[in-house]
Amino acid sequence: MARVKILGIEVDAVTMAQAVERVENLIVQKKSSLVATANAEMLLNATHDAELKKILNAADLVVPDGAGTVWAAHHLGFEMPERVAGFDLVQELMKISPAREIKFFLFGAAPSIADKAKLKAEELYPGIKIVGTRNGYFKPEDEPEIISQIKSSQPDVLLAALGVPKQEKWLFKHKDELKIPVSIGVGGTFDVMAGVVRRAPLWMQKAKLEWLFRAMLQPSRAGRLLALPKFVWKVHKQKVNG
Ligand code: UDP
Repeated sequence: MARVKILGIEVDAVTMAQAVERVENLIVQKKSSLVATANAEMLLNATHDAELKKILNAADLVVPDGAGTVWAAHHLGFEMPERVAGFDLVQELMKISPAREIKFFLFGAAPSIADKAKLKAEELYPGIKIVGTRNGYFKPEDEPEIISQIKSSQPDVLLAALGVPKQEKWLFKHKDELKIPVSIGVGGTFDVMAGVVRRAPLWMQKAKLEWLFRAMLQPSRAGRLLALPKFVWKVHKQKVNG
């Protein structure tokens, strides 16, 4: 499978359908695989976070989440077939899960959010099996209990919504102990599913403006917009300097 190196991170040039198929294969392989959804901010963070960079390059699948990632590949002379947003990947996996008998555990977000996301998933995808939930606010001493809760629920897919890079680092650190076939860092997915954060309208997603919508909706995130021009600048430097 083709991979495009963007700011030192290998991103898989996959369509949504290929990403779903890949996750299904990883579930069958049962080897504690990690899946990451790389948007511009994550790729930029990885340039000054060596641990995150190592984890992303060790991941089994890194999907091009966000218009920025697709643009970067294009600017560097490669084509990403399409954007594969983490939220959409989760929905696609949930949709096929009853037929494929894929079980999920939802870990992360504020108390009660993962439970609301579970209810929403059960309404949208009848027959889905969500075998456990746990909020994402915990102390180090709570971790053994969280790990044993996840392990005893025996999910095929662990969705972790702790924010970047906390979710990637947590999943990587505990993956051998957890032994869950596939773990995916999913950022704000549960908040959107629970209905506490809105996703950008389709026209904004198509106009590649989802990042602007998120900043408008949560002004506390506005500072994070600075990541975008920095990302564009760094990708351009990569193109010029190789
Ligand atoms: N979160 C959490 N534990 C933490 C910090 C954050 O569970 O210690 C959750 C937060 O409630 C939210 C998600 O992680 O549901 C991060 O969402 P965001 O949209 O900020 O994701 P990102 O843009 O970092 O991928």
